[in-house]
Amino acid sequence: MIKLEPEILQAVEKPARYTGHELNAVHKDWDEVDCHFALAMADTYEVGMSNLGLKILYEVLNNRQDTACERVYAPWTDMEAIMRERSIPLFSLESFTEIKKFDFLGFTLQYEMIYSNILNMLDLAGIPIWAKDRNDEASFIVGGGPTVYNTEPIADFFDFFILGEGEEVISEVAETFVKWKREGKPGGRKGFLKEVAKLEGIYVPSFYNVKYNEKGYFSSIEPKEPEARAKIYKRVIKDLDSVHFVEKPVMPYIGIVHDRIMLELFRGCTRGCRFCQAGTSYRPIRERSREYLRGLARKLVDSSGYNEMSLTSLSSADYSCLGELVDDLFADFEGEKV
Ligand code: SF4
Repeated sequence: MIKLEPEILQAVEKPARYTGHELNAVHKDWDEVDCHFALAMADTYEVGMSNLGLKILYEVLNNRQDTACERVYAPWTDMEAIMRERSIPLFSLESFTEIKKFDFLGFTLQYEMIYSNILNMLDLAGIPIWAKDRNDEASFIVGGGPTVYNTEPIADFFDFFILGEGEEVISEVAETFVKWKREGKPGGRKGFLKEVAKLEGIYVPSFYNVKYNEKGYFSSIEPKEPEARAKIYKRVIKDLDSVHFVEKPVMPYIGIVHDRIMLELFRGCTRGCRFCQAGTSYRPIRERSREYLRGLARKLVDSSGYNEMSLTSLSSADYSCLGELVDDLFADFEGEKV
């Protein structure tokens, strides 16, 4: 367990980025679970804490009895300098455990500009940067999020990627890991990758031959292991009302970028603007029901204490019963100053 001395916290900007213990953070006994999962964003605490996908996956994983999920974000440069000077490894915000002790380190890949931060975080954690250099004891490095539709620039650094929406498949990954571990880890690291590659939506780069032409452009990709799929389809949640959504968001002690309830109305977008990646990659359009959202809004206000809520989607004004939902919410929270 990493212990941060008060003098360290007093020397850095925004020490609450590193102290954890926020309302709704989940603390589990490490010895009582089989799967330890660190969810990461290679950006500052304020940005990472604002990411809706991470909030959802944090609850999905922690809702599993056999799994403990904790958070880690990129330290700001002042903290990184101290960590390197004092040989403090990257640590999680719940149990202050060294990140390299986790079974998985999962990065959400929101934009390409943070790729270099990912490598820096791996280095700070003491985890080999190249996937090929990791031994059986090393954490599995996982990527998911909007940029996985072009993984090749970073494929050599990841053990596997999750394509598409993660609510269901992240739990399948944890389940596969727990089974593999309880069976005595057959086949070692590669044995687990062979198992996880069987899941729809999983891409294990080391199981494919990728060719480039004489100009250095990508030309082909072919599986080289029997478990690797020739085509990998992104995971899509068909019924958004049927999967878990955030109910108890972790409440920061400092201001974060998106510091309010995010009520996600729907995924996908019908507009098809030519310049927009999200409009294509999040297809098809799927709405949450008005009744479900109404119940969710109540739970979120009660569990967080927030008095502000955003109706979040790619194009929220296109929600088919937006007017009715807004009327419902005004009625439900009348007098509560939400
Ligand atoms: S998300 Fe916005 S920019 Fe993208 S296709 Fe929809 S309306 Fe257009």
